[in-house]
Amino acid sequence: MHDRAGTGSGKAGRSPATTVTASAMATGQSVEPVDTVPIGEIDLAAMPPGRKWRCWLQVATGLRQPVMVPFVVARGVSPGPTVFAVAGVHGNEYEGMEAIRATFAALDVGRLAGTFAGIPVANPYAYAARSRTTPLEIDGLNLARIFPGNPDGSPSAVLADHLFRLIGRSLGPDDLLIDFHSGSAEVAFATIVGVRAPASPARARSEAAARHFGLPALWEIPDSRGPLNAETTRAGIPTIGTETTGRAGFDARGFAALGMGLARVMAYLGMIASEQAPVAATGPFRPTREMLAPSSGFFRTSLKLHDEVEAGELLGSLVDIFGDRVAEIQSPCAGSVWAVRETCAVESGETLCYIALR
Ligand SMILES: [Zn+2]
Repeated sequence: MHDRAGTGSGKAGRSPATTVTASAMATGQSVEPVDTVPIGEIDLAAMPPGRKWRCWLQVATGLRQPVMVPFVVARGVSPGPTVFAVAGVHGNEYEGMEAIRATFAALDVGRLAGTFAGIPVANPYAYAARSRTTPLEIDGLNLARIFPGNPDGSPSAVLADHLFRLIGRSLGPDDLLIDFHSGSAEVAFATIVGVRAPASPARARSEAAARHFGLPALWEIPDSRGPLNAETTRAGIPTIGTETTGRAGFDARGFAALGMGLARVMAYLGMIASEQAPVAATGPFRPTREMLAPSSGFFRTSLKLHDEVEAGELLGSLVDIFGDRVAEIQSPCAGSVWAVRETCAVESGETLCYIALR
């Protein structure tokens, strides 16, 4: 392994033993142990080539203790693009976290062109609580709805602001942001890769990267305000996003697919050698229809991921607590099931399933 500087022995929320600034890291002097760096001092371009680093990014969010965000960087010996991968924007989506850690561990900086940067857990508040969102006692916010953040906002909004500025100053039009997500605790997702819908000068590069991620299911993610991958797309940064199983667990196949996708994209960008020629998925980017529960109830369904359904097909029914039917759920379109609720109890307005249009 090439991790000569990375000791990362601190823990989130604890006082760091040693503070090492980015300038010290850039000179390659006095870099051990690398415990914590104020996030505003991170400058990827100033980091020396041929090194791996891992550290805590210290983010002052207005609480008594700063939040510590784990950060890994592998700087190749030769120049090239930067791939910046982020997981854990939702704290209980674990496959992408492991994909980042495995990729960082496996990279040989002596054979790497460019830079791999990774944040395996973007929302340590949510991760510590094993929840999707920041706990209520902090601010209860969903980090994936509040980018580009607010420096004067609550802790999650300040965290989003710092993360977004780090990503923004680290990436240009030849680089790539990867935003790893998984299904929620209640709704399982197919393993898919996508690009955001907003028109962006980065759209062509985003599409090419998504195609070379190597998954057959390509998603036209509907635009909305606040997700990291929507706002980086809007900012002109080539961006892809993923989903995989989730359920607040760890799916080994989903993890493997994300890790292989990361390697394939880096090979496509010329950052690492690959024994195989890059292969691009050729299908269309498919939009999805999200089906929401029209009322609260118990979702009776035999629907499974990847099922093919027809327009008007009965997907399931909602029954009340005595078993009386309160709604029938019919597919609005022909397509493939890319997400399905597996926790049967549902509140009005919550997700039942996603259908990818055929
Ligand atoms: Zn997510």
